[in-house]
Amino acid sequence: NKFVFVTGGVMSGLGKGITAASTGRLLSNAGFDVTAVKVDPYLNVDAGTMNPFQHGEVYVLKDGGEVDLDLGNYERFLDIDMTSKHNVTTGKVYQSVIEKERSGDYLGKTVQVIPHVTNDIKRRIREVAEGSDVCIIEVGGTVGDIEGMPYLEALRQFAHEEDEDDILFVHVTLVPYSKNGEQKTKPTQHSVKELRSIGLQPDILVGRADDPLDPQTKEKIALFCDVPTDAVFSNPDVEDIYQVPLVVEDEGLDEYVMERLDLSDRALPKDER
Ligand code: ADP
Repeated sequence: NKFVFVTGGVMSGLGKGITAASTGRLLSNAGFDVTAVKVDPYLNVDAGTMNPFQHGEVYVLKDGGEVDLDLGNYERFLDIDMTSKHNVTTGKVYQSVIEKERSGDYLGKTVQVIPHVTNDIKRRIREVAEGSDVCIIEVGGTVGDIEGMPYLEALRQFAHEEDEDDILFVHVTLVPYSKNGEQKTKPTQHSVKELRSIGLQPDILVGRADDPLDPQTKEKIALFCDVPTDAVFSNPDVEDIYQVPLVVEDEGLDEYVMERLDLSDRALPKDER
């Protein structure tokens, strides 16, 4: 199994989910069996009790699972059916950890976030990934959120447990403009610093901006975030989100991901995708 983890920096509603789904789509076009997990770090067990005015309509899956609208993007982009297992929430994780505690499964141990909660998170991700070539895991929220911490720690452990070429960290950030129209990289630098402070080094950075990133912007992000310049990709605003896979394909994101995951040899030739 290969795992692609997608985190977001600076703010939510950035296009992290669309970036993750687009990456998945391109890998699936290249002939790989792709699945996805959406992590929602809230304490609700599922989206069924959430106010639609605050959160958007509840998306109902084939198995009756009530989830975030994002899961719909994955089903449409990847052309797969998801179940409630594909949506990991803090509510579900804690519910099962507490149930295990009550039934004595932990044999008298002190039940803790590390390792019990993080183990449950990793177990859920591996369970969904089982049988697929690539599993895309989108961590909802923004790096630095208290709610997201156990997930990021689980990701750090994942990187430690899996082979280097089976894991990829993609960080999607906002690249805003200054008053004089310059693309600013400081928010990206800060969110990567935050990631690194908890032991995660992104392999790929995707900059969301109105326009494609300038070459100088890419170089600056590469230098300050410690990635090669060709690991920095643009995801500019488009009219229609179904164009995003094409835009990031033009940028070469799919080729780079496959190269890093050692999948290039198994990918379909470009003209057969
Ligand atoms: P996040 O996962 O970061 O919260 P989403 O992927 O759900 O963000 O996207 C947030 C909103 O931005 C959605 O309404 C989506 O349609 C829109 N969006 C995402 N990417 C782009 C893009 N490249 N151009 C224009 N709109 C986009």
